Amino acid sequence: MSNQRQTSGFPAAWGYDKSRENHSMSQSGRRLFRIFGINIEFDYSWFIILFLFSLWLGDYFRAQPGWTPAQVWTAAVVTTLLFFASVVVHELSHSLMARARGISVHSIRLFVFGGVSQIESEPRQAWEEFAISIVGPLTSLILGALLVLAARTQTPHSLPWAVTYWLGWINIVLGLFNLIPGFPLDGGRVLRAALWSLSHNFDKATRWAANVGKGIAILFILYGIAQVLRGGDLGGIWMVLIGWFLLSAADQSLRQVKIQNALADYTVRDIASPFYNRLAAGENLEDYFNQISGQHEYRPSLVMDDDQLLGVIAPSDLRRTPREQWNSTPVRQAMTPRDQLTTAGPRESLHEVLKKIVAANLSQIPILQDGKVQGVIRRDRILQLLHDHLTPQP
Ligand SMILES: [Zn+2]
Repeated sequence: MSNQRQTSGFPAAWGYDKSRENHSMSQSGRRLFRIFGINIEFDYSWFIILFLFSLWLGDYFRAQPGWTPAQVWTAAVVTTLLFFASVVVHELSHSLMARARGISVHSIRLFVFGGVSQIESEPRQAWEEFAISIVGPLTSLILGALLVLAARTQTPHSLPWAVTYWLGWINIVLGLFNLIPGFPLDGGRVLRAALWSLSHNFDKATRWAANVGKGIAILFILYGIAQVLRGGDLGGIWMVLIGWFLLSAADQSLRQVKIQNALADYTVRDIASPFYNRLAAGENLEDYFNQISGQHEYRPSLVMDDDQLLGVIAPSDLRRTPREQWNSTPVRQAMTPRDQLTTAGPRESLHEVLKKIVAANLSQIPILQDGKVQGVIRRDRILQLLHDHLTPQP
């Protein structure tokens, strides 16, 4: 991730996608283009940095001897775009490495602090985390070295020389900045991988790495404030913003670990509900409607043949059939059949189940043991449990 002037960093973090749990995040991305089957998206905050970068590069190129204003601004805009292309290359290296390890990648998002790869899940092993993290800075360092070498073949102070030379150095800065061991920067993830392989404990490793990350983020903020007080330029403010961003990202990782820990002591059976609505296979949509319309909340019903689960019918399934056909449409025809259902086993961990329920956007799922229905597990019960655990007791 990242780059920029001698004083400021420009993080392009790579992170794990939480967008399925946090829909507001995934909706703000607009697609720019698609490469290797990965969507490159941008957030509107990206325009802020595009603008600031072009201005700053304009300043930088104005110092080149004998350039016309047209040359200066063309170089500034082209270089800004090429810089973000380098950020995309950096992120693509993370994403392609993750995909090679069988972890799916949603997209790469460009935003005010750089870029982030939205990767489906946490790595399963320390070395996998190491490989996915280290490849980004290495890619930037190699790309930077090649560009600096390429610049040497150009006439000094010509337009191609200035652009290539600057891009080369900025990629080297990007690679080095990302190696700072402040989680969630790449270097912090490398640190977490090392702690993870030493302690064999992912939670502990995340906690340690996130705390080191918070420390480094605070140093960024203090350094930025000192620079502003010394009468420095915008670099100090930029430093404070980056520190703030890193601090909240490290905090969020800590919260994630707390959620995981809060749910770790429970299994599905601890909060399973034995009560659920059921319908016989022969009943129709009107029967289902009558069943739920007297209730406070519209819940899915299990469609059963004796004690065999055939499928689940949910209120949203009613919408697909015109009202006048409800009387003549068997629930079996409108339900989600058993082989497509998301289900849980009584011994499954609540954390896994919560991820499944959230990913499929369901309010409850049936619990099956040896093919028999043991009850249902409700999303609101899991969230209530979490709430009770994470709220300090008075
Ligand atoms: Zn990176």
